[in-house]
This record gives sequence, structure tokens and C-alpha cells, in this order.
Amino acid sequence: MPADFQAELVACFGHPVRENPTGAMQEAAFREAGLNWRYLTVEVPPERLREAVQGARAFGMRGFNLTIPHKVAVMEHLDEVAPDAALIGAVNTVRREGERLIGENTDGKGFLHGVRADAGVDPRRRRVVVLGAGGAARAIVTELALAGASDVLVVNRSVERGEAMVRDLSAKTGRPIRFAAWRGVYEVVGDIDLLVNATSIGLFPDVEAVPPVELARARAGMLVCDVVFNPPETRLLAAARGRGLPVLDGLSMLVYQGAIGFKLWTGLEAPVDVMKRALREAMGLG
Ligand code: NDP
Repeated sequence: MPADFQAELVACFGHPVRENPTGAMQEAAFREAGLNWRYLTVEVPPERLREAVQGARAFGMRGFNLTIPHKVAVMEHLDEVAPDAALIGAVNTVRREGERLIGENTDGKGFLHGVRADAGVDPRRRRVVVLGAGGAARAIVTELALAGASDVLVVNRSVERGEAMVRDLSAKTGRPIRFAAWRGVYEVVGDIDLLVNATSIGLFPDVEAVPPVELARARAGMLVCDVVFNPPETRLLAAARGRGLPVLDGLSMLVYQGAIGFKLWTGLEAPVDVMKRALREAMGLG
């Protein structure tokens, strides 16, 4: 067989991106699958996003991820946006089909997969509280609503942003989504099955920060999830554990959104255990 020195390329465009561990996880998956693929972690400032996408086209890249601050801005540079990414209003994964670049959103799906696979909870007919109304919250609320959650309550500090998101997503999904302003400490009471922190509170380096929520009257068995993955054991999750509540950390969402991306790019099932291990190693978690 003739030698083939040309690797297939995928990438992550972000700003800042240096501390994003996704490359270690995807490259471990490529190795495991025997693929000569490379994942490039690329610093792209907002004013150069257009050129970066043109570069991806010129290089014949198989796809790329977007992280802060490009998830919304990238959409105008693509040939197509998949229906659910359009509904969410953000793209975190782009795949190439022929010459066309197609935007997808795997964040909410990755989160949901983790809830089912790692925590053993089916969100159908569950009552959910989501803290936050940013990009991660939008993706999670959309997928929870589409998965049949019986009630989704969005709690956010900025009323304007929270109300706009809830109006938009309840109209688009046709599912019950409500809003409450986050004033002082939010008390989680009795009948909630799932609490999701989809804010950036507790994210490194501000690791001592904890979302102002009171868990004392939460129902036994309520699942507490955090999207923050650095550190994986946030103060919120530690507090929930301390009360005997089941928890799901942000690494779960990170791995599964990446696993869905791997499948979109390669057409192969992702080696999830290998990806989890590589991610933990890259983050110094052993
Ligand atoms: P955004 O900036 O879009 O949204 C941030 C949200 O956090 C807003 O709702 C904001 O409220 C809220 N918030 C921030 N600080 C505070 C505070 N002090 N008090 C109350 N609310 C606060 O960020 P993203 O949605 O893109 O990201 C959120 C988190 O999700 C990040 O930590 C990110 O790393 C993580 N993430 C994890 C993923 C994973 O795979 N695990 C994937 C994607 C994101 P307000 O509207 O009032 O400003």
C-alpha cells in the first residue's frame, strides 16, 4: 500500500481556547479508532472568525468545534444550520458534507445523554429547574423540553435575558417552559426532580463561588447537575452530595457532546470510555 502522510483535520476555534481539553479527548478517540486524524486547538479572535472558517474550507477540514465567543456568530458563515441548532440559536459543532459546512449543536444532546447514561434518569415527565439563560442553558432547556420534561423552570439573574429566552423557546418547542427572576437565594422545594446549574458560577479560577440556591427542602433523590467541568467537583455538587443527593458533573456533558461530534465527523461510534479517560488525564484528574 502506498504511504499516506496526509491527516484529516478537525479543530476547535475559540477565544480564549488554550485551556480547552477537548483536543486530548478527540485525539485519543481517533487513535483508538485507528484514524489518521488531528484535532487542532486554535485561538481565533472574533474579528477573524470569517477567515478561520474560510481557512477550514481551504484546508478541507472535516469539521470543527466552536467555543466562547463564536457559537452564535459562526452561523452566518455556514452553508446550512441543522434544525435543532437553529432552534437553539447556536452552533458548537460543524461538519463537512461535500463542500458544504453544516452547523449542529451537540451541547444539549450531550447533556441529556449524560443524564440518561451516567445518572440513569429519563427526563420525560420530570420537573426541572435550570439556573442560567446563556448559551449552555439554551441548549439544555431546548433538549429537555423536546425530551418531554413536564415542566421546565428557568431561573436567571438578568430578567430581560431570561424572559426573552423562555418566550422564544416555549414558542419554538411548544412545551411548558417558565421563568423566575433570580433574586437573592433561590429555594428548591419539594417536587423538583432535576436541578441544573447552567451558569458559569464556580468555573476556574473562581472555584469557591457557589450558585445561591438552598437545597434543604429539595426532595430526596433530586438529581443535581453542573455544566461547569473545571473543576468537576464544584461547590454546588459538593453541597448536594453533603445532603445525600445524586449528582452529575460537567465532564459527563463534555464527553458526550464530543462523542456525538466524533460520530458526526467520522460516521463511527465514539469510544466513550477512552475519551473519558483521556479527558480526566488531560485535566490532571488521573
Ligand atoms: P454565557 O456567558 O452565555 O451565560 C452565562 C450564564 O451564567 C448567564 O445566565 C448568566 O446570567 C449566568 N451567570 C454568570 N455569573 C453569574 C452570577 N454571578 N450570578 C448569577 N448568574 C450568573 O455562558 P455559557 O452558557 O456559554 O456557559 C456557561 C457555563 O457552561 C460555562 O461555565 C461553560 O464552561 C459551561 N459549558 C459546559 C459545557 C460542557 O460540556 N460541560 C458545554 C458548554 C458550556 P445573566 O444572564 O444574568 O448574566
